[in-house]
Amino acid sequence: MARTDAIVLGAGIVGTSIALHLAKRGLSVALIDRAGVGEQTSFGNAGIIEGNTVFPPAFPFDVGALARIALKRATEANYHLSFLPQALPWLLAFRAASRPQRLVETARLIRPLYARAVAEHELLMAESNAAHYLRKTGWLKVYRSTSTFTALKPEIDLAAQFSLPLQTLDTAGAQALEPSLSPVFAHAVFWPQAASVSNPLGVTRAYAARFAALGGVTLNGDARSLHRAGQRWRVETNEGGIDAPEVVVALGPWASDLLVPLGLKLPLMVKRGYHRHFQAQDNAALARPVLDADAGYLITPMEQGIRMTTGVEFAARDAAPSPVQFDRILPKARELFPLGERADDKTWLGSRPCLPDSRPVIGRAAGLPGLWLAIGHAHWGLTLGPATGRMIAEMMTGDAPFCDPAPYRAERFQ
Ligand SMILES: Cc1cc2nc3c(=O)[nH]c(=O)nc-3n(C[C@H](O)[C@H](O)[C@H](O)COP(=O)(O)OP(=O)(O)OC[C@H]3O[C@@H](n4cnc5c(N)ncnc54)[C@H](O)[C@@H]3O)c2cc1C
Repeated sequence: MARTDAIVLGAGIVGTSIALHLAKRGLSVALIDRAGVGEQTSFGNAGIIEGNTVFPPAFPFDVGALARIALKRATEANYHLSFLPQALPWLLAFRAASRPQRLVETARLIRPLYARAVAEHELLMAESNAAHYLRKTGWLKVYRSTSTFTALKPEIDLAAQFSLPLQTLDTAGAQALEPSLSPVFAHAVFWPQAASVSNPLGVTRAYAARFAALGGVTLNGDARSLHRAGQRWRVETNEGGIDAPEVVVALGPWASDLLVPLGLKLPLMVKRGYHRHFQAQDNAALARPVLDADAGYLITPMEQGIRMTTGVEFAARDAAPSPVQFDRILPKARELFPLGERADDKTWLGSRPCLPDSRPVIGRAAGLPGLWLAIGHAHWGLTLGPATGRMIAEMMTGDAPFCDPAPYRAERFQ
């Protein structure tokens, strides 16, 4: 049996960033996944490093929007009816946390973590030969309806308080940034400090390669084999058992599979989402991610083509894919941008691991000595992976974390 200082369970962007940060501090680390590095949720996202986040995605209070979702006419959300009874307690908690005052509180609590997001990626990219994936071209959000745009005022005011730069643009101003967009929208907001990547899988793999270069070991194994072995934790892998005094759980949407049997029940829900890749017609191109806010989808340039990602789907994590949102959003997307043929024949499904207050859990698991949690990064796990890695590594090695860890404690749910 091999011994190591720390085991990280889950090699998505979150776990891989943690493993790399621990290895940088001189610990011997085993990173364990049952699949390949970065191949699950961290593979198919929209690639935005959204350090600007002010308000997290919230429950809609608008009666019209709710009615459209209920009638399955909404572009931004879908649901499986059979899943709703199970999801109801979580949805009510999410709704409570989405009230305007709570959103302002959340925005203030999460700002220090998000403020480090882009810089932390840049540090890891520089040492991992991954800087070529990074685009510091911002994020453009377009609004077809003036009322949706007007409703942004509280967020824009708060962004000013946080000194986050943004530009409100008319149609022509947005087209100056993205000439291939058609004028089907009336307003836009450009967030220049957001960044994005052209291949999220490439980024995670590059961080894993850097981890290996520092002596880190990546192994195949099932995290659910975790158990206490005396004063240490032990996991079975394809290379045999491995044990360590400290273990970090970074299993994304699968975290509960491990934690519930250990007696730790967190309100972890999934918001599923899909992507497809398209070619662009003629010379059409995008320089940055574009959110068609009223139509509820996003298009972004990736190495594979133009990646279109959907909004959310409330369904059991392991239920069969039901990518019906594409039927609703494709006509809208073709209005906005000259999408060509599909670039491949795949429809990707991923599950955003979400807690109802839109804050991840980062820190110790109370009552389980040596167990650390880094889960629930929801819509912004790519964004927060490296910042989470630094924070966990600082806490595990006895350094003061760069931001207050209190908002991220698991105990807030107990
Ligand atoms: C459509 C969509 C668009 C998104 N767009 C963005 C975006 O633009 N920007 C952004 O910041 N975020 C975005 N996200 C969210 C982001 O992708 C996630 O928050 C992030 O990938 C979560 O990372 P993770 O490492 O926690 O989870 P994962 O990447 O899922 O990693 C968890 C790992 O655990 C492993 N695992 C699970 N169970 C076991 C087990 N029993 N044994 C061993 N290993 C196991 C899995 O194989 C996996 O590799 C998007 C998500 C979706 C679905």
